Amino acid sequence: MVRAVPLLLSGALALSLSACAGNQASSLAIRKPQAAAAPATPAAPTQTGRPGTSVPALGFAATAPKVDDAFPLRQSFRPAFASKLAGRSIPVSRLSDIKLENREVVLTFDDGPVPGKTRRILAALDEAGVGATFLMVGAMANAYPAIAREVAARGHTIGTHTQSHRNLAHLSDEAAMAEIRAGQRSVAAALAPAGFEPAPFFRFPYLADRPSLRQRISEEGIVAIDVDVDSKDYFHATPDAVKDRTLLSLEMHGRGIILFHDIHERTAAMLPGLLAGLERRGFKVVRLVPPGNPPLVASLQPAATPAI
Ligand SMILES: [Zn+2]
Repeated sequence: MVRAVPLLLSGALALSLSACAGNQASSLAIRKPQAAAAPATPAAPTQTGRPGTSVPALGFAATAPKVDDAFPLRQSFRPAFASKLAGRSIPVSRLSDIKLENREVVLTFDDGPVPGKTRRILAALDEAGVGATFLMVGAMANAYPAIAREVAARGHTIGTHTQSHRNLAHLSDEAAMAEIRAGQRSVAAALAPAGFEPAPFFRFPYLADRPSLRQRISEEGIVAIDVDVDSKDYFHATPDAVKDRTLLSLEMHGRGIILFHDIHERTAAMLPGLLAGLERRGFKVVRLVPPGNPPLVASLQPAATPAI
């Protein structure tokens, strides 16, 4: 496992947020287990990203919705459609379940959702027919709940990444757990209207963990998603540079969990090329899903006619 250099994302996130409000909600295909036969209904109008919407910068302690302290976590997994690049789904209830074969990769996107980027990333993933894991910041899910729901509705796995992207290494275990739980509640609240729940997957901001915290979250059934290949998409670079170094790093590792951030323009820009490069090199994109959410038989058929 590599450790990324510490990220100074709070500022970047605040910048991203202020720079790209302007998306609107789109329809969601809602999958609610108890209403599986019901037709999809359009998403309710939301406060997502309208110009002038007040957006909490990260670091701002957004008010968490009032829910039980018990983690409300199941998952929002919906099977992927047929794709040459799509690999298997791995049910994950503990870290040791993540055993990648040679040429298998997992795509992870941290720090969103955010208007203007997350949906472009969803479009690229749809085009390639692959699933990813989004580790969402609670404050971002509070600010852009419709985008969070759209990520779930498109069948991706959603985990969490604290409420406000604080460096947990600077907090006591108790304070850190409070940050983690608040982030989970926020993401759960964003997804709930569409009948989805986040997976009990978590990534440490700045990859700053410690054994006692890992133990705590493990005891609560949460899986810390580590990183094998860091795209370093948070550094200034051209999209091609990000793509090329990620592919090069993957060639060296042969497999791995890749760290991206769905808050950066360069990440959205390079993703189609990266996915094409993965396919050319014979990689498979595998997905991490919570146990008890096996792909449905329907996954053997394309979920939708691909755009031509
Ligand atoms: Zn992060």
